[in-house]
Amino acid sequence: MPGFELFGDLERKEVNDVLNTGVLMRYGFDNMRQGQWKAKEMEKALCNRMGVKYAQLVSSGTSALTVALASAGVGAGDEVIMPVFTFVASFEAVLSVGAVPVLVNIDDTLTLDIESVKKAITSKTKVIMPVHMCGSMAHLKELKGICEEHELILLEDACQAIGGSYEGKALGSYGDLGCFSFDYVKTITCGEGGAIITNHEKYALNADHYSDHGHDHIGNDRGAEDHPFLGYNFRISELNAAVGIAQLSRLDNFLDVQKRNYTVLKESLSKIPEIAFRKVPEGGIENYSFLSFFLPDEQLAREAHKALSEKGVDGCFYWYDNNWHYIKKWDHLKKHHSLGKLPQEVINQMPDYNAVNFSQSDYWIGRNISVLIKLSWTEEQLYERASKMVKAISDVLSLSHKNI
Ligand SMILES: *Cc1c(COP(=O)(O)O)cnc(C)c1O
Repeated sequence: MPGFELFGDLERKEVNDVLNTGVLMRYGFDNMRQGQWKAKEMEKALCNRMGVKYAQLVSSGTSALTVALASAGVGAGDEVIMPVFTFVASFEAVLSVGAVPVLVNIDDTLTLDIESVKKAITSKTKVIMPVHMCGSMAHLKELKGICEEHELILLEDACQAIGGSYEGKALGSYGDLGCFSFDYVKTITCGEGGAIITNHEKYALNADHYSDHGHDHIGNDRGAEDHPFLGYNFRISELNAAVGIAQLSRLDNFLDVQKRNYTVLKESLSKIPEIAFRKVPEGGIENYSFLSFFLPDEQLAREAHKALSEKGVDGCFYWYDNNWHYIKKWDHLKKHHSLGKLPQEVINQMPDYNAVNFSQSDYWIGRNISVLIKLSWTEEQLYERASKMVKAISDVLSLSHKNI
């Protein structure tokens, strides 16, 4: 997945364009910038690549989610349905606009379980936020149907899935709004950065204003701007956007490499009959940033994960024990630990996550291992990795057979 692996001359050239003018800010300084508008240029390129009308670059994926929610008018009292397997940023963004994160079960796609989503809908629900974890997508068609029926907003957290598609549409472009992250470990990087994409003009305009203190950006050189509503600073800098332009131009190349590496590992692991792979909804194409699979039970998954690490196979994640990505370890959320007090209304309205039963999600995450697909593996490293993985997992499984 990591774009940082292939930082090169193209990125340096784009950054030098900015350094040569010295204009590091994306707005204003019209006379000094010698025609360089890197953030605008990357937004245009994102629109082209993703097939959408509007793109707004911001300072991170977390900012993108926050701005997307605000742009759609989400605020106090509104509920946002999201999965228990995601990165902490998803609920941070919801809380930061004063709304309530409603976490629900996942299924074998490792993202939103449709029945759990339906059960969680209340009169306060405003958004359904699937998170396309580890490069593959939620049941988007079903989610869209639910959103249409209940007049909800479909916001895709596609931070880990840029370049994947569903029914021929880029992930992030299927719903009302989609968000990407360009932090340093994502498929493409700006160093730090993020983006919101949408086809709704109103959301796009709101995102443009909200991410820059509510400035309406009318007129040249920030001279005649007004503030139709409150906003914050979620701007990206020209330096970060410059890196992103180069990386985005290489996205399809990165995806090809990921797909090749993913396919070799998947074919090798397919020889082990006890392994099942994560379900990809029909009509979906992954971005191949991770290969995710299930062992027959939690204990075997733990042992396989340990054996992989002992064999020196790096980049294997057992999310069930990981405190960034699964609800089991999110004590700060469960105990409402913030620096200041969270609004009492939010606490009252939020489900008590210490008490909710997520055994369905435990079942899937407890058996899952995800392997990060790198871009920089040589052919030799790739095949060595494949055979080490097969050996490590087969050993664990045959030992367990002997013990029965
Ligand atoms: C990385 C990530 C984010 C946040 O992106 P940042 O750029 O790191 O703020 C949000 N959601 C998911 C699923 C992510 O993986």
